[in-house]
Amino acid sequence: MSSTLDLEQFRAAARSWLQSNAEPRAAAASADEPRVAWGSGSDNVAVFHDVSEAEERARLDACQQWQRAKFDAGYAMLNWPEALGGRGLPNSYLRAYNTEEARFEVPGAGELPPTSMGLIAPTIAAYGTPEQQERFIRPLLRQDEYGCQLFSEPSAGSDLASLATRAERDGDEWVLDGQKVWTSGARFAQWGLAIVRTDTSVPKHKGLTAFMVPLDAAGVEVRPIRQMSGGANFNEVFLTGVRLADDLRLGPVGEGWRVALTCLGFERDHSGGGGGGAVGGTYHHVVAAAAHFGLTNSPTVRQSLADLYVHQRVAQFTNRRAAARLKAGQTPGPEGSLGKLMWTANMARISDAISTILGARLVADTGEWGTFAWGEHVLGAPGYRIAGGSDEIQRNIIGERVLGLPAEPRIGKDLSFDEAQRITRGLR
Ligand SMILES: Cc1cc2nc3c(=O)[nH]c(=O)nc-3n(C[C@H](O)[C@H](O)[C@H](O)COP(=O)(O)OP(=O)(O)OC[C@H]3O[C@@H](n4cnc5c(N)ncnc54)[C@H](O)[C@@H]3O)c2cc1C
Repeated sequence: MSSTLDLEQFRAAARSWLQSNAEPRAAAASADEPRVAWGSGSDNVAVFHDVSEAEERARLDACQQWQRAKFDAGYAMLNWPEALGGRGLPNSYLRAYNTEEARFEVPGAGELPPTSMGLIAPTIAAYGTPEQQERFIRPLLRQDEYGCQLFSEPSAGSDLASLATRAERDGDEWVLDGQKVWTSGARFAQWGLAIVRTDTSVPKHKGLTAFMVPLDAAGVEVRPIRQMSGGANFNEVFLTGVRLADDLRLGPVGEGWRVALTCLGFERDHSGGGGGGAVGGTYHHVVAAAAHFGLTNSPTVRQSLADLYVHQRVAQFTNRRAAARLKAGQTPGPEGSLGKLMWTANMARISDAISTILGARLVADTGEWGTFAWGEHVLGAPGYRIAGGSDEIQRNIIGERVLGLPAEPRIGKDLSFDEAQRITRGLR
C-alpha cells in the first residue's frame, strides 16, 4: 500500500481491503454511527467480558489473528512515527480507517489488547531505549505479546505514589518484592509495566522507577479476582524476589512517576476518547430496544433518549476538540479528564435508559435477544467510574487545573516516603 495516497484514496483502499478480509456488519446504516438491527447478529453489550478462561483465550486468539492481518497489511500503526515502524499518517487517516472498519464484523478487542496497544506500547515509545522500542513495540502492536499495567496496590490506588512494592539493586539486577492488585488481563499478558519504589529516603513521587516485568519470571504469581458481574478480568499479582536485568528498567531510576503519569494520560485519552468509548451498549442499541418494545412514544423514554443523545454528542465534540488540539501540536488540555467523566456518565445514562425500557427483562433470562444481555453493561459500567482515575479524582483535576480552585491539602508531600509512612502508622 502506497503511503502517498490522499485521504479518499486511502479510505477506498482500506474499504477494499476490509471487503476482502472481513464480513460486512448487518444493517450498518451510516459510516459514523452504525445502527442496530434488532434480533440480528450478536447482542453482546458487555462492558467487561465475563467469560471462562478458555473462551477468553479463544477470543484473544481471534483478536490476535485479526490484528496480525491488519498489521501486515499496513493498517495497524497508521499514526505511529515511521521511525517506530508506523506509517506516520495524520489522525484523520486513523479515523477514516476506524470508520470503515466499524462497518465490518471484526473480533471485539475486550480489555487487554487496548491496554497493551493503547497504553503500554506508547509509554515504551515515550520512555524506552531504542533497544526496548525495538524489542517491545512491534510485538505489542501486532499482538504477538500483550502487556498489562502493574500500578495499583492494596494501599495505593488514587494515591498511586504511595505504592510500596520495592525494587532493590543487586549487582546488575533488580529484585522486586510486593503486591499489585486489580491488574486487568494479567493472566493472558506476557509483560507487566510495573511502577515500584526504589528509594524510600526521598518524597514519595521521587523514589519510583518503572520496569517491564516478564510475567513468567520466577517469583511472579497471578491470582484472578471474581467480579460482581461474574467474570474475572482482574488479578492480584504477587512479586516475590523477582529478579530483573537492568535493561528491563523503563526510563531513568527515580523517574517512575513520570512514566506512570504518561501511561495514565494515555489511559484517560483512551477511555474518554477513542478506544474506550467503544465498549458496552450504545445509544443506537437503546433506541433499537425502545422501538422493539413500542416505547418510542413514551414521554419518559423519549426524554431519556433525548438526554442521552445530547450528552453523547457533547462528548463526541469534546473528543474532537481534544483531537484538534493534538493535531495543532498543542499539549493535551483538560479534555482527557472531561472526556473520561462524560464517558462514564454516559455509560450510566445508557444503563438508566435501558433499565427503564427493559424492566424485569433485564434480570430474568428468558433467552430473548437483546434483553438479559444488558446485565453485562449495567453491572460492568460502574467499573469505569473507578478505572484509570476515579470520577472524584477527575473532578479534582478539573477543579484544580481547569477551574483554578484551591488545591486539596497534600500533607507531608515534602517528607521522605519513610517519614510519611512513620507518621501515617502513628496516626492509625
Ligand atoms: C475496571 C478496572 C480496571 C482496572 N485495571 C487496573 C489495571 O490494569 N492496573 C492497575 O494497576 N489498576 C487497575 N485498576 C485499579 C484502579 O486504578 C484503582 O481502582 C483506582 O485508581 C482507585 O483506587 P482504589 O481502588 O485503591 O480506591 P481508593 O483510591 O482507595 O479510592 C476509594 C474512593 O475514594 C475516592 N477518593 C480517593 N482519593 C480521593 C481524593 N483525593 N479526593 C476525592 N475522592 C477520593 C475515590 O474516588 C473512590 O471513590 C482497575 C480498576 C478498575 C475498576
